[in-house]
Amino acid sequence: MLQQTQTSRVVGPWERFLRRFPTPTSCADASLADVLRLWEGLGYHRRAKALHAAAKTIRDRFNGEVPSSVPDLLELPGVGDYTAHAVASFAFDQHVAVLDTNVGRVLARAIANRTLRRAEAKTMAYELLPRSGAAAFNQSMLDLGARFCTSSPRCVECPVARHCRWRRDGGADPAPKSAGVSRPQSVFVGSNRQLRGKVLASLRHSSRTERQLATLLDGVDRGRFDEVLESLLADGLIERKRSSFQLAQ
Ligand code: SF4
Repeated sequence: MLQQTQTSRVVGPWERFLRRFPTPTSCADASLADVLRLWEGLGYHRRAKALHAAAKTIRDRFNGEVPSSVPDLLELPGVGDYTAHAVASFAFDQHVAVLDTNVGRVLARAIANRTLRRAEAKTMAYELLPRSGAAAFNQSMLDLGARFCTSSPRCVECPVARHCRWRRDGGADPAPKSAGVSRPQSVFVGSNRQLRGKVLASLRHSSRTERQLATLLDGVDRGRFDEVLESLLADGLIERKRSSFQLAQ
């Protein structure tokens, strides 16, 4: 839920989700349509499908328990390198380094003062990891990147400013093209992402014909309308039943 979404937007849906699905198995046993209904307000619906598939993998391969090691976590649909390391560190206190867009910026600026490839950034993150307290260290790096070393850094207030190589040596900002540092998100309003969300919201409680969906997306040209429907069908988020569309079961 937190991928590309602010924590403040996730808290409500997260609590609602946990009340309905208190265990991975309860989520795995539900239909995808039920999971999509609870996803309201979060967007990026492919994540809901991946989460449902991950819950099924946890139920079927890990006896209903979320695995604790990075290799096992990476077997779960939708779980990439960052999420696997974050869960292993914060939920299971494993000795692993977490590398996300915030940490990527801190490493490129404060430690290297040059653009970092992924392997270099990972090696650097592991070299910095203390022998004990890895989770607290990872959290500090994430917070440093989120609160001070942002895309427009607040160096004057930064607690590590006197150790920062970029601040000391100067030069072009090394962060933007470094490993793990994400590009700005595309504009949401008017995007296909927004239209996909509208279609899914309208199917939350009942199926709809193509004509009803076209009315809902009034003003959108036919080519784009078809593109949105096809992408939702291809992603397995909706399905066609005779002349109607419904949430995938
Ligand atoms: S001093 Fe500035 S560039 Fe260096 S780590 Fe702090 S916020 Fe980032």
